[in-house]
Amino acid sequence: RPIAIMPKMADQRTHLVLENYIGGKFVQCSRHVDSYDPSTGEVYCKVPDSDKEEVEEAVKAAKEAFPAWSSKSPLERSQILNKLADLIDAHLEEFAQAESKDQGKTITFARTVDIPRSAYNFRFFASSILHHTTECSQMDHMGCMLYTVRSPVGVAGLISPWNLPLYLLTWKIAPAIATGNTVVAKPSEMTSVTAWMMCKLLDEAGVPPGVVNIVFGTGPRAGDALVSHPEVPLISFTGSTTTAQRITERSAPHCKKLSMELGGKNPALVFRDADLDECVPATVRSSFWNQGEICLCTSRIFVERSIYSEFLQRFVEAAQKYKTGVPTDTTVHNGALISKEHLEKVKGYVKLALAEGGKVLCGEGISSLDLPERNKSGYFMLPTVITDISDESRCMQEEIFGPVTCIVPFDSEEEVIRRANNVKYGLSAVVWSRDVGRVHRVAKQLQAGLVWTNCWLIRDLNLPFGGMKYSGIGREGAKDSYDFFTEVKTIAVKH
Ligand code: NAD
Repeated sequence: RPIAIMPKMADQRTHLVLENYIGGKFVQCSRHVDSYDPSTGEVYCKVPDSDKEEVEEAVKAAKEAFPAWSSKSPLERSQILNKLADLIDAHLEEFAQAESKDQGKTITFARTVDIPRSAYNFRFFASSILHHTTECSQMDHMGCMLYTVRSPVGVAGLISPWNLPLYLLTWKIAPAIATGNTVVAKPSEMTSVTAWMMCKLLDEAGVPPGVVNIVFGTGPRAGDALVSHPEVPLISFTGSTTTAQRITERSAPHCKKLSMELGGKNPALVFRDADLDECVPATVRSSFWNQGEICLCTSRIFVERSIYSEFLQRFVEAAQKYKTGVPTDTTVHNGALISKEHLEKVKGYVKLALAEGGKVLCGEGISSLDLPERNKSGYFMLPTVITDISDESRCMQEEIFGPVTCIVPFDSEEEVIRRANNVKYGLSAVVWSRDVGRVHRVAKQLQAGLVWTNCWLIRDLNLPFGGMKYSGIGREGAKDSYDFFTEVKTIAVKH
């Protein structure tokens, strides 16, 4: 049994106090921000409110560690990443409990998705780093051979959001350090606990001091200091489009390399030949999984008119059975939303839909939740279905990022492609049809970085992940992350 990495709290009034992790040491910060347990609405943790000074220290430590770390062989780095993956696995239950409490997601989701995938991110890049080759071209007529070499970029700045906290942070740390960079990472101030727990495993895994530095705090202070730091030449960011625009401005004076994984307004297109036995449960899941707080969640469902009423009836029935409750209850599908402000924002969209003449068929305003006394101030919301809404309404145009989905009918293939593309985002889309010709035709025309047909969220981490339009810049995945976290140089040798 591994030694616990989470301290036991004396009672519920004692706050967990996090520290920054810089140069292989835990360093206290004099200022803190509150972090809430979304299932109760109570403050339970104090997160460092780091600023320029802390970021400066972390960048210094990362710079010092870079020469030795980048000189190690890929195999040496790979072994360390694998050891870290093993340690995360060994502490899976502790991590899952902490992630669920910090984010509001169900313990089942944290146990089966967040934490196993966090460990797998290290394992995946530990393996993939061993298999890259560079390019070579022979130009005999010029007596010349040309080839490329790749080198790590330096200190990588990594910024991640609150919806899949450790999962998305490790999806950046793993490729960054596997390729020989050192990192300064800033997780979301709302969900910092599991990143802090992971720092307790780095030394045992063999990660040298300064290779991974974690500076906790808010976007405008710690985040801004990191993105505008002149000695951080690369920023990998996952979060909202608005923040990405700000980061782009702040990093522009230094011509930084940027990777942006942003929001979505993802459509599902359900044609009349769809297998509804598969499509309905999968689309309920794609709309509401993790409280709808996944960038890939479906939030606009277009259904061919001839099956519209049947689909609607079956979908609403299934949505009503999608249980919301206390995250520790293993029978519930959804827990609490991340924050009071976010809950209000999501509920605000339902009010807006009603004001615009839309209908709410289930969820918010229709049914209420029966919660234990302790959870009555938690940020819970039922899966909500909206219909009778125009494509131009804000609910059909803006990212809601909660358990709300809109369902509307369509008449032709050409029409639905046009309407699906009629948003500023382009992250993912789902097509439901048994006509293979149509599937290829439609998928090709959809403006989305990822298109699933007759399924949702099946991933191969080797292949590119990312969005087009306002959903992102660049792609992540085995080769894409390798390209992003390295600089390429072309060398010509005349013989
Ligand atoms: P956010 O943009 O508010 O915050 C993301 C991170 O950026 C946080 O760590 C935050 O502290 C930091 N930040 C905020 N302002 C900053 C600034 N000025 N400078 C530097 N850093 C700053 O996003 P969020 O609310 O945490 O996450 C939800 C968003 O993330 C949604 O839009 C969702 O679609 C998106 N997301 C995208 C993907 C993807 O892979 N495409 C995955 C998950 C989430």
